[in-house]
Order: sequence, then C-alpha cells, then structure tokens
Amino acid sequence: MTTDPVDRLLATARGEPVDDPFRVTGVMMQYYFVCKRELWFESRDLEIDRENATVVRGTRVDETAYSDKRENLHLGMISLDLLDDGRVVEVKPSSALTEPAEMQLSYYLWYLDRVADIHREGVLAHPRERRRESVELTDERIDKVESAICGIHSIVTQPSPPPAEEKPFCDSCAYHDFCWC
Ligand code: SF4
Repeated sequence: MTTDPVDRLLATARGEPVDDPFRVTGVMMQYYFVCKRELWFESRDLEIDRENATVVRGTRVDETAYSDKRENLHLGMISLDLLDDGRVVEVKPSSALTEPAEMQLSYYLWYLDRVADIHREGVLAHPRERRRESVELTDERIDKVESAICGIHSIVTQPSPPPAEEKPFCDSCAYHDFCWC
C-alpha cells in the first residue's frame, strides 16, 4: 500500500481501498498558503467564527457574485462552482491574497483532471475590483499542487499546531483567539 500522500489522496477520491484515507479540501489548500497553523485548526474541524466581520464579508461576496451564472458541483472531497461556459470559477472578495486563491482554484482543476478526467480552465474573479484572471493547469501548477498536497499532509498529521506567527491579517482571522489571547 502506497504511503505517498498524492497517491493516497487519489485512491481515496477514486473510492479505491485505502488503509488510511487522506482528504484535502479546497479550503485546506488555500489555508496551506495563508497560514499553516490555520490549516491545522481547519483539519481538526474547529468551528469558524461566522460573526467575524471578515468571514461574513467574504461569505456574502461568495454567495452573491455571479449567482445567476454559476452552478455548484460536489465531487468527492471538493465543492466548486462552474460558469455557463464550463470554466471553474473561484470568487474572492479581494486580490490581496492572490497565491492562496490561485492554488485553491489550481487544486480544483488538478482534481477534476486526475480524478474525473475532466479538463477545464479556471477563472479567478474579484467582483469588487471588477477583475478576472484566467488560470490554467500548467505543468508548473501541477507540480506546485502535488508538492502542496505533500506539505499539507505533513502539517495535518502533526499532533499539535505549528506555532503562531504574526501576519498582517491575524486580526481578521477566525482563529485569532486561539493564537493571541
Ligand atoms: S490568527 Fe494569525 S497565526 Fe493564528 S491561525 Fe490566524 S492567521 Fe494564523
């Protein structure tokens, strides 16, 4: 039985027999590039504070933007939105954290490709800034996604979270009180 995290994730997603299933959601991929401590909390299903202004703001943008032009698709461990033209769309309230959003979208494209043999392009949308960026699953992005999957595995299998490291967005993080109070 393979111990490689990418192979284990793929076997889990394809419903193959796996001694130790391994799942990575889109949010986990995003958090890996935002804050590894946040990723560890997310992996333990610690409840997010929905009253947090930033979380509420982000949720509202996500719920309303392009709502007449997209449909939600659940496929195993991921849940993504498709536009009318078949492209996968990820809507973010701002372009301040571009790399995490790009990697979340890249992971969706990789997962569709590897698990369902569906080849799609993606679009990263920032409706408040009236901006859209195209995202394609290049060889470079494939390597980065698979390397991140291995990195996520090493974080979430630790018995305790990585230490807190202050970041510009800690004040608006849902787990702020776990780190700084
Ligand atoms: S408060 Fe800061 S260090 Fe703590 S989980 Fe959030 S982003 Fe990470």
